[in-house]
Amino acid sequence: MKLNFELVPDSCWYSNLRSILTPAQWDVVRKEAYARAGGKCAICGGVSPRLEAHEQWEYDEKNAVQKLKTVIAVCKNCHEVIHIGRTTLMGGEERASAHFMKVNGCSYSEYRKALGEANEAHRRRNLIPEWKLDLSYLKKFC
Ligand SMILES: [Zn+2]
Repeated sequence: MKLNFELVPDSCWYSNLRSILTPAQWDVVRKEAYARAGGKCAICGGVSPRLEAHEQWEYDEKNAVQKLKTVIAVCKNCHEVIHIGRTTLMGGEERASAHFMKVNGCSYSEYRKALGEANEAHRRRNLIPEWKLDLSYLKKFC
């Protein structure tokens, strides 16, 4: 799936870069992502005057390492799909599911299946009490 859900484990306290970096540092990382995007969502390619910075993490469950893969600029619709848990709580699941199906060119049952898989991975990752953080991605900004 081109656009998929990214559920951050509950035990990842520092899953938000904004809580680790100073506002000035975060600005550098964020603006580099916007510059790379050139006004288009990095996932769906939609042109948007207001892109949002999104942190993509990788999870090495065997070694309990949460690694920052990249920071990309995405449109609001894609961002809502990525954070489907929060979006559903805010009452936006219908719009998010429609966007997911449009971007991925898939059916509602495929949407449900992908959501089930994401929830399963989330449950599994929540069993790991403490994740080690790998922020080597940020080295290029130093
Ligand atoms: Zn998008």
